[in-house]
Amino acid sequence: MSKPLLVGVTGGIGSGKSTICKVFQILGVPVYYADDRGKVLMTSDKRLIEQIKNEFGRESYSKHGVLNREYLAKSVFSDAEKLQKLNSFVHPAVAEDFKQWVALNADQPYLLKEAALLYEIGSYKALDKTICVLAPKNVRMDRVLLRDMQRSKEQVEQIMEKQTTDSNRKKLSDYEIRNDGDLLAIPQVLKIHKELLASLGD
Ligand code: ADP
Repeated sequence: MSKPLLVGVTGGIGSGKSTICKVFQILGVPVYYADDRGKVLMTSDKRLIEQIKNEFGRESYSKHGVLNREYLAKSVFSDAEKLQKLNSFVHPAVAEDFKQWVALNADQPYLLKEAALLYEIGSYKALDKTICVLAPKNVRMDRVLLRDMQRSKEQVEQIMEKQTTDSNRKKLSDYEIRNDGDLLAIPQVLKIHKELLASLGD
């Protein structure tokens, strides 16, 4: 059996990458949501839990094993080295989990991996193709403030600063989806879906 084509979907916060992936899911394409899986693994992967406890202290988890996200967020907030350390634990755990997920879906023509940071952490190199979802910054900001009631404008700006720019995403991606609210997104998804299948000779 041939290996499925691995396709990354990325974009800035609020660009609509999760929404776009849901459209692909409706077409029957399995999607791995890397950021969500990372959060799950932080409370389920024994090795990862131990690494976090050793680095950040036992208070990173409650006695019932619930991750103290607030404490951890505070610990890494203005400490780039600590954030880097946390990422150096989480990213390999996600990469391993993704590998297992790919093996479980080996009968599919192609699979999607959705992640906010794909070009930034180099994980796109393990993928065959990438799609970037594009939307202007002000549109993304408005969407995120509506979606995430707990986040302030300043917090969203800080997240945006840690992410790469749309012009860099355009340079590195194979496909672009303009999800600015003006251009219809679903026809763009259908076109890419068809092209990916055609590239596999289906
Ligand atoms: P991301 O995963 O890139 O952070 P989401 O897919 O969660 O972004 O989208 C951010 C918010 O914007 C969500 O509330 C979503 O419903 C909304 N959204 C996404 N695409 C559109 C669109 N084309 N028009 C209007 N709202 C959209």
